[in-house]
Amino acid sequence: MVPEKALPEIDSPTTGAHAPATDAWVEAVRDLFAPSGRLAQKLRDFTQRAAQQEMAVAVAHAIATRAILVAEAGTGTGKTFAYLAPALLSGKRTLVSTGTRTLQDQLFHRDLPRLTAALGVPVKRALLKGRNNYVCWFHLERNLEEGRFLEPETGGWLREIRRFARHSQSGDKSECATVPENAPAWSYATSTRDNCVGSECPHFDDCFVFRARREALDAELVVVNHHLFFSDQQIKEEGVAGLLPACDVVIFDEAHQLPDLLPHYYGESVSTFEALRLAHDARVELSTLGGDFRDGVAVVDRFEKTTRDVRLALPLTGTLRGTIADLPQSAPFVAALVTWQAAASAVHQALAAVAERTELLAKLAEKAKRFARALDTWQQAAPTGNGEEVFWFDASAHHLTLNRTPLTATEAVRDLIAASPAAWIFTSATLTVGGRFDHFRHQMGLTRITEKPSTAARWESPFDYRRQALLIVPDAIPEPNAAGHREAVAQVARRLATAANGRTLVLCTALAAMRAVAETLRTQGGTDDAPFVVLTQGDAPKETLLARFTTTPRAVLVASHSFWEGVDVVGEALSVVVIDRLPFAPPNEPLLAAQIARMKRAGSDPFLTIQVPRAATLLQQGAGRLVRSERDHGVLCICDVRLATRGYGKVLWSSLPPFRRSRSLAVAENFLRTLFPEPRETAAPSGVHSDGAP
Ligand code: SF4
Repeated sequence: MVPEKALPEIDSPTTGAHAPATDAWVEAVRDLFAPSGRLAQKLRDFTQRAAQQEMAVAVAHAIATRAILVAEAGTGTGKTFAYLAPALLSGKRTLVSTGTRTLQDQLFHRDLPRLTAALGVPVKRALLKGRNNYVCWFHLERNLEEGRFLEPETGGWLREIRRFARHSQSGDKSECATVPENAPAWSYATSTRDNCVGSECPHFDDCFVFRARREALDAELVVVNHHLFFSDQQIKEEGVAGLLPACDVVIFDEAHQLPDLLPHYYGESVSTFEALRLAHDARVELSTLGGDFRDGVAVVDRFEKTTRDVRLALPLTGTLRGTIADLPQSAPFVAALVTWQAAASAVHQALAAVAERTELLAKLAEKAKRFARALDTWQQAAPTGNGEEVFWFDASAHHLTLNRTPLTATEAVRDLIAASPAAWIFTSATLTVGGRFDHFRHQMGLTRITEKPSTAARWESPFDYRRQALLIVPDAIPEPNAAGHREAVAQVARRLATAANGRTLVLCTALAAMRAVAETLRTQGGTDDAPFVVLTQGDAPKETLLARFTTTPRAVLVASHSFWEGVDVVGEALSVVVIDRLPFAPPNEPLLAAQIARMKRAGSDPFLTIQVPRAATLLQQGAGRLVRSERDHGVLCICDVRLATRGYGKVLWSSLPPFRRSRSLAVAENFLRTLFPEPRETAAPSGVHSDGAP
């Protein structure tokens, strides 16, 4: 059985003396979450939960003592209000960072207004995203005027974006319902740090980017995302980097994502996409100067051609990634890389020669210089790497990205946190592995911070997993690498979906497995009279697929990585989650492979130190899709016998909530039949779980 976990578990005590006023304030936070407290009075659907109250008190302590708090709060605890309420009440300047822009929007537009109204604290708040989320008047107008686009539909989209921007307060593209977020037109209607002319811009007073930054500087609480937070620390673009020194409280929600993401933010990338954008901007700007600059345009044209040539010289088709050692050392590719670098240098020289003519030319010259340098570093890099960084590429059908990524960012993050006077709070439903915080704290450099008090605490989900759900690892399934495993997963999913009359989410670890399982379910699932409605990741945007899944009778959704997190279907529409195999990252993934090699050289065991903890976190996330409220019931099926037969399996299952467990598929089918005795249509609509709601 899964061992019981203490509630809450404090790894190390908070240090530092509290002034009486501080203690009184912490007690005020406790009262807020009491059964007859203000939140119970003001929020109609508030349910008092001891775990939420305790977490809020821990956050209040951390704020009062400017400490580090690592807080794991199981699903349904209400962690968002538990950290937001003390932050709002404290009156201190707060930065909240979420994992994605979607969560950023939810927090800002849904949770914050609701809570500030309940608390009666009119806190000035702001939402800040990366600059590529905001319409840029300067480039939108000039590209519309220039009118040369690769894609025929771009002109129409740009006119649509202009209509939107004229009536928008924020210029945030997520609010533009008429143009898809991934339309190529957005790259012509937004800015980069390299082509923004700042105070020289004729649109500066109406600029959405600078307006959002001004509002953020003026706000008491700012909501950002992890990508913006860390990439801005690197490029110091006066977005988040400008805010951080004045902040008293920094909160990371979905903090489990940070350890894997951080090295990428501290690296450097150059891409053919970026190069084409540079060429486009340079050509348009040079052409505004008139006929004298034809030579410069010719240099830019050559750079554009060499950019296309380098992808064509890569004798690989489809989407691929690998290290520098995997790149062909064939003459055509190496020659194309050398030519590309030389062309970037030539663009730098051509633009530098006229840089004094306009602010934009000066910025583009700088960009070309950085680009040429990065390519030069790539050319000099040894195929074996340098032991500290990994050089790797990512190739899609049309583009190539070359990356230089440090193997770890632990030191940099440690220094950032240690130097900041703020309280730092990291929270998520999945921060522990086997009940311990060691992996997260080590990866984040928190174990070596002596400048601040540091606490870690965990609060279990209020859900009764033993009663509400069943975890099965079918005993008759082949090992995941054995022949027939994929077919067996499809058959298990088919049987469970039959017992639940659809209502099934299948999470696969690879796209090929996802397609195979979906195909089997499509051809063999359900009955002739009532086949399953099989939805597959990629058929439509994620939100659209989820909406279809929750409203379509007999729906089965088969998905891969992007559905392991951020799926919050409350109610019986999602009653079965099938996971095809333990989610170990492929050991040949470039950064992971380099980390593994380094660990082996140092005599450590990379499997137990890196791969198992990562898989545990992802498995917890996938499993967390099943039970989203006290009323949810269902089956979690993990089609990987290693969970039960390998030594490390115990670390993985002990990281999961305390489900009732079985090895029998028949037991799971019977459990589902008790939930859904008669085949009937999906009755309860899904809903988004609100923090104050049961
Ligand atoms: S200031 Fe920069 S981002 Fe704003 S409109 Fe001008 S170029 Fe675009």
